[in-house]
Amino acid sequence: MMTSKQKRALQRLIFQKRDAVRARFDGRHGELTGPSTKSIGDTADEAVWNDALEMQYALDENDLAELGRLDDAERRLDDADFGVCERCGEPIEMKRLLALPETSLCFSCAEEEGVGRRQYHPHPLTAELYGIV
Ligand SMILES: [Zn+2]
Repeated sequence: MMTSKQKRALQRLIFQKRDAVRARFDGRHGELTGPSTKSIGDTADEAVWNDALEMQYALDENDLAELGRLDDAERRLDDADFGVCERCGEPIEMKRLLALPETSLCFSCAEEEGVGRRQYHPHPLTAELYGIV
């Protein structure tokens, strides 16, 4: 069972991750200005632009999916079963929650499902938050 102090720390972490994803999303949209008027009709430039757009859609989808998972985690924070693995029912390691607060799988279940390794990137705040584990 998670202490309220741990929950508040995770909530803060979720907020910060969400801000970071939003900043990344907004930053990307600020960068893309589209083909300049003088290059309209230039098929090479259009191809480059289309590639950039496709890339942006893929990145946007990832970011929006992550924002959704973070919102969902925030809603679940006060549930009795927050921090419990939805697959095996064991508590999710605090260390893992600090790195990936939106996860709903413990480390070994995530490994077994083949998503653990790819998503397990410790968040910069992790070290700071170790104090509460
Ligand atoms: Zn599990």
